[in-house]
Amino acid sequence: MKWETVIGLEVHAELSTKSKIFCGCSTSFSNEPNTKVCPVCCGMPGALPVLNRAVVEYAMRLGIALNCEITRLSRFDRKNYFYPDIPNAYQISQLYAPICRYGYLEIETEEGVKKINIHQIHMEEDAGKLIHDTHGKGALMDFNRCGIPLLEIVSKPDFRNSAEVIAYLEKLRETLLFLDICDCKMQEGSIRADINLSIRKPGEELGVRTETKNMNSFKAITRAIEYERERQIEVLEDGGLIFQETRRWDDDKGTSYGMRTKENIQDYRYFPDPDLPPLQIDDNWLESIKANLPELAYQKRQRYIRDFKITEYAAGIITVHKNISNLFENVSQISNQPVETANLITGEIMRLMNNSNLLPEDLTWGQTADCPYIKKLSVLIGFVTSGKINRSVYKEIVEAVFTSNVDPENYITQKGLLMVNDDNAIIEAVKAVLSENQDSVTDYRGGKEKVFGFLMGQVMKKLGKGGNPELAKKVLEEALA
Ligand code: ZN
Ligand code: MN
Repeated sequence: MKWETVIGLEVHAELSTKSKIFCGCSTSFSNEPNTKVCPVCCGMPGALPVLNRAVVEYAMRLGIALNCEITRLSRFDRKNYFYPDIPNAYQISQLYAPICRYGYLEIETEEGVKKINIHQIHMEEDAGKLIHDTHGKGALMDFNRCGIPLLEIVSKPDFRNSAEVIAYLEKLRETLLFLDICDCKMQEGSIRADINLSIRKPGEELGVRTETKNMNSFKAITRAIEYERERQIEVLEDGGLIFQETRRWDDDKGTSYGMRTKENIQDYRYFPDPDLPPLQIDDNWLESIKANLPELAYQKRQRYIRDFKITEYAAGIITVHKNISNLFENVSQISNQPVETANLITGEIMRLMNNSNLLPEDLTWGQTADCPYIKKLSVLIGFVTSGKINRSVYKEIVEAVFTSNVDPENYITQKGLLMVNDDNAIIEAVKAVLSENQDSVTDYRGGKEKVFGFLMGQVMKKLGKGGNPELAKKVLEEALA
């Protein structure tokens, strides 16, 4: 009988609130160690935590989006352990009454839609960072990250392969992003996944699991899952035992190694944090969060396809990141031409972004309706669709706007790029080309239709950049006929 893989995920998402979870320190990233700290997040004696309201609201948003029950009387607990990066010697987290429970997320798999159950979502604080071996004098501590708010999203062991895990992480990432609660920069560790994996023969009880911690790349996650599955099969088929342990993935070597035997929940001596009162969420608060929930990516896709008649493919590209969909919505609104806007973004804009290595997450312009780029792109869309400029001039100016922020109208005037829609000018150009290329004309009339492209090229050359290709084509066809 074949082995079945059973996987559960614990995902930590760093929240994009302005301040930390229990103090007023800024969450903004700083290279200067220990500059975003205060007595609370440094664990000084007598300093007391005060809960950040925004963290609770972000947690509620995610809970609602993931179909969870919101716990009306939620509590914070201390998870006790000693490690130098956690100055209190405990982490404030939630164990007994987490803010969200019993939700689910639907993913697309090869066998159709699959429901992944969410066991719970809880709020907690992040730990600091240890910097080892600087100046060869041991370890240094940077507490800037202490107290950065995290949501930990704990799934049920519902995954059976790495493709399902990736589909879930993609969907979760998209949800966090469009809820505006996390920047989702994987490479900066804004989302980290712990993979709990065991194997069993179908129908058997769950096997002993291992946990591979702190994974922040989809590629590495897939490799680590395949590796761990194969490792466990080999151990069990050789008659060995799997130990419950925490493992670390080494992506360069393509292997993982055991770090420590896995702690059990009782090892942490969890108890309710006496410094923080229970958190009560009333109907009004919950209803106001529900009523103001941002539109999610899949809802945007449905709306774009339904209301704007853009293709499913284009809708998928536009919702790859919130910054792109903001750009799309702003330009569509001003230009009033959503299909043309979708073509512009999925074509030229994506190409230009690629060429300049600009990631969607780093896109800063086009995010508000009053951004000057929005108006410039909208003007260009108006010009090309009304026949003032041709498609190749359009692309040229889009690129000039993108790279040098030119003013489209000045650019067109200075370079004389308005489309030549004058019939006489086109007829003259066609006449000239035909008389200069008698041989080609004879070839064409003799059945060599390929020659048309050449003649067309000559006509456009005569007309210059402002040539109207459609008109020119029509006149040339008539002349040849
Ligand atoms: Zn602080
Ligand atoms: Mn955690």
